[in-house]
Amino acid sequence: MSADIKKPGTEAGEANRVTELFGENVFSIKTMRNYLGEKACNSLVATICQGHSLDPSIADEVADAMKTWAISRGATHFTHWFQPLTGATAEKHEAFVVPDGNGGALMQFSGKELIQGEPDASSFPSGGLRSTFEARGYTAWDPTSPAFIKEGVNSATLCIPTVFFGYHGESLDKKVPLLRSMDALSAQIDRLGRLFGIKTAARAYATLGPEQEYFLIDREYFDARLDLLQTGRTLFGRKPAKHQQMEDHYFGAIKNRVLSFMEDLDLELWRLGIPARTRHNEVCPAQFEIAPIFEELNLAIDHNMLVMDTLRQVAEKHDFVCLLHEKPFAGVNGSGKHNNWSICGPDGKNWLSPGSNPREDAKFLTMICVLMQAVDKHADLLRASVASARNDHRLGANEAPPAIVSIFLGEELTDVIAQLEKGESREKNGTATLHLGVSSLPRLAKDMTDRNRTSPFAFTGNKFEFRAVGSNQSCALPMTVLNTIVAESLDQICSRIEAELAKGVAFNAALQMVLADISHKHKRILFNGDNYTAEWRKEAARRGLPNIRATPEALKALTKKESVAMFEKYKVFSPREIESRYEVYLHEYLKTVQIEAQCAGTVARTMIIPAALEYQNRLGATLTSLKTGGVKASKSTRDLLSQVARLTDDALVAALALEKAVSAESTDKMLTGMAALRAAADELEGLVPHDLWPLPSYAEMLFMM
Ligand code: ADP
Ligand code: MG
Repeated sequence: MSADIKKPGTEAGEANRVTELFGENVFSIKTMRNYLGEKACNSLVATICQGHSLDPSIADEVADAMKTWAISRGATHFTHWFQPLTGATAEKHEAFVVPDGNGGALMQFSGKELIQGEPDASSFPSGGLRSTFEARGYTAWDPTSPAFIKEGVNSATLCIPTVFFGYHGESLDKKVPLLRSMDALSAQIDRLGRLFGIKTAARAYATLGPEQEYFLIDREYFDARLDLLQTGRTLFGRKPAKHQQMEDHYFGAIKNRVLSFMEDLDLELWRLGIPARTRHNEVCPAQFEIAPIFEELNLAIDHNMLVMDTLRQVAEKHDFVCLLHEKPFAGVNGSGKHNNWSICGPDGKNWLSPGSNPREDAKFLTMICVLMQAVDKHADLLRASVASARNDHRLGANEAPPAIVSIFLGEELTDVIAQLEKGESREKNGTATLHLGVSSLPRLAKDMTDRNRTSPFAFTGNKFEFRAVGSNQSCALPMTVLNTIVAESLDQICSRIEAELAKGVAFNAALQMVLADISHKHKRILFNGDNYTAEWRKEAARRGLPNIRATPEALKALTKKESVAMFEKYKVFSPREIESRYEVYLHEYLKTVQIEAQCAGTVARTMIIPAALEYQNRLGATLTSLKTGGVKASKSTRDLLSQVARLTDDALVAALALEKAVSAESTDKMLTGMAALRAAADELEGLVPHDLWPLPSYAEMLFMM
């Protein structure tokens, strides 16, 4: 880590260094021009930019160029970097080095090794897609995401982003379905574009800017908490007097130790070509956020996986631990990953931005209706796409988007949608208007950004923001689902318009009719109020919007008949693939809760209950010495002992019940068991002397840095 760039931009020389460093660890288009012949380079650029399939005859040349570049950056190894269903990234390093037959060595890397790998993949979750006797898994280069260098302690590794699939071509990872969903979306966007008279010039694609929240705590405290070490969240901990209620941390001045971490982090990300842009303190003390500039979806997701890796690694260098869990601390804010999503059309324009002319406004309104229909029809699938034991603690708590999926459009846009439905004409004198069949709506304002922080799916001016995604989750599944439901919605809307046109109806009138109908049918998904309130939960129930609190229930949406058919129709998941995912995620849920329950039992039995018993001893000794000294023990002293004894007993009883629930593999009972155990333990924490309490407190973890 170079220390000579502590304050980028403070001096001209240093600012220049940043532009020099940016992307230095990426085999980018710019870099490859220095290492590849013109013909190979152009062919590869076409693959990357236009999605043409890779010309196998250039593979050897590309591999050689990559190797030469990687070695110049200190690489000794290469790896196919992929994203199995564990939700993390995976890599198996292979050295470039091969003996030359004369006692020396050569550095080799062939086109074949670049294009395809066969890691022994039998231990990755596949949800029954592979039995161990046909456990082969293959990785194949995804040239749309550039190769990059990961620096180790003394050398480096060339990482090649790859997809991961089984012997029969079935997807075993998060990337294959994502890429397929992007194809489906792109095709339907082109189709709508044609209806609007847009010639397909380039490939349409989705864009993503993920805002990443995280906690930092001092390594010393982390090491002293078995629960954090094993589960990523605190299973015990009494809420301190001061936590986030003063709201003095949000956007506050960043402490030096944290700032120094952030400076290193940005630098490392820039070197990987990740456009880290904003950094700030979040609502809860010890909570922070980093957001990049948005990028093409596939790349943005790979980059977010690298951001999470880099957060953890840089934290370590600063004696912090970065907690990416969705709810590391009970009772204060959890961490999300707001997925800002939009579409860059074949015209190169953002299709979720109100246009510069009435035609573009009409296309924009169509897209809003596309989203309304998609989200209303498949709210349960979006919920399923972010379901995990960890995120369950966050969704539905009163500080995070609720498990009820609704759309926030802001008052102005909601009003326009309502006018659309009624076919009203609210033309203001002299202002430009947008004629859609019978409606003639005022031209849309460029900036309709309202602020609503409580909606799970909010329109924020020129993009939608899906906020239910958890901080630790890969964006891949939620984005795959979003792309697919939007592709389906576009498909249906285009078909309806095309059918009207075939009957001889004029385009604007056909559009008006279809959009009015969608607005009518799907307006129940719109909600601009406070999503955290009990009134909204009631209102949502009245509207028939699903409110699915727990993961096992939520996951069922994946294998519903309609979902399976849709995924199959748009070639995103085969029925077997989606079934296998359901199994993997359900199993992951069970395992997560089991580990937590067992860990809670261990911490209670080996740390908390012994400390409470020790305090009972001390109190008992006090009573004995009072008696010996001829002093009558007061009622409050005796009461204290009985209170501690009662709570200790509560904790023991709860620990026993929890152990039974673990043996019975009942996740519901494990969750209630942990809650009961925690209640007793947290109360004890408020009574047992600090020097006896075995775990660092919330106050220490959240405030001492
Ligand atoms: P917020 O007010 O929600 O914190 P920010 O501006 O900090 O918003 O971050 C919003 C994120 O949305 C950034 O990552 C930004 O790059 C991204 N974003 C902006 N425009 C688009 C777009 N067209 N498509 C996808 N993401 C976008
Ligand atoms: Mg945001």
